[in-house]
Amino acid sequence: MPRASLISCCTRLHAPTSRLSLFRRSHHNKLTPSSTRCFSHNVIADFDGTLTRYRVNGVRGQSIIHGILQQGNADYDAKREALYEHYHPLEFSPLIPLEEKTKLMEEWWSKTHDLLIEGGLTFDAIKQSVSSSSIAFRDGVVELFEFLEEKEIPVLIFSAGLADVIEEVLRQKLHRTFKNVKIVSNRMVFDDDGRLVSFKGKLIHVLNKNEHALDMAAPLHDQLGVDNGEEGEENAYVKQRTNVLLLGDHMGDLRMSDGLNYESRISIGFLNDNVEKSLESYRKAFDIVYLNDAPMWGVLEIASQLFPTEAS
Ligand SMILES: [Mg+2]
Repeated sequence: MPRASLISCCTRLHAPTSRLSLFRRSHHNKLTPSSTRCFSHNVIADFDGTLTRYRVNGVRGQSIIHGILQQGNADYDAKREALYEHYHPLEFSPLIPLEEKTKLMEEWWSKTHDLLIEGGLTFDAIKQSVSSSSIAFRDGVVELFEFLEEKEIPVLIFSAGLADVIEEVLRQKLHRTFKNVKIVSNRMVFDDDGRLVSFKGKLIHVLNKNEHALDMAAPLHDQLGVDNGEEGEENAYVKQRTNVLLLGDHMGDLRMSDGLNYESRISIGFLNDNVEKSLESYRKAFDIVYLNDAPMWGVLEIASQLFPTEAS
């Protein structure tokens, strides 16, 4: 294939047909006459650069983790920016061992969260930040979510960013919510005046988001009315074998499914940057690779093959 066409916007590099058919067969086996719901399937998606566009109008789109939030206090915005300047190069340094890097990321995220509290972040500032941001979803994300909602297939969006900000982005940019979509990210607690007072639960940073799948999947299945198994069987659903469709734009995103006991996984990688340098490793690591802000139509097509209607 000539290089120019290989690196086009919508390139789908390969499709593992045998794995797709195994996944599909397993889907059909799970259907019973009384239920057409696909409770044994999960979609796990990264947010930044996966559901959202990497470039907007030719420039790098704003990241949900760093850059989007203006907390209405210039001093604190500057302090968070200074942390970014210090820690961001460390995040990508090939010289720092993983254990040490994990500690550094915890340090960075904790300090950032403390600054958001100290600087008096309000929910109104979040709304304002999202409304003036350049963040945009890939084409076809709404249609993909609608399809998965209709099939009652849970979608876990994993992010090291802020759940409340992501939810606001979904509200403002997609103009709707989906009952099958759950955000697995850092969750804020606001007081009655809408001012941030603390964070809930365990800190999720770039290097530990895979540790949360098991904890986070169960409540979503409860929410969808999924039978979680016999009483007393904690997290029975997520302990059972499942099929996973995973979407990510980073090699580390492949680990998002580590906490799930999956039988089959189809991984879709979005390669947004350094395409020529990273192409080979992405092709090896992911089952299917899309390049350069490709829309979600191909993923929707794959999802409709993996999760067909009962009659098909
Ligand atoms: Mg990402």
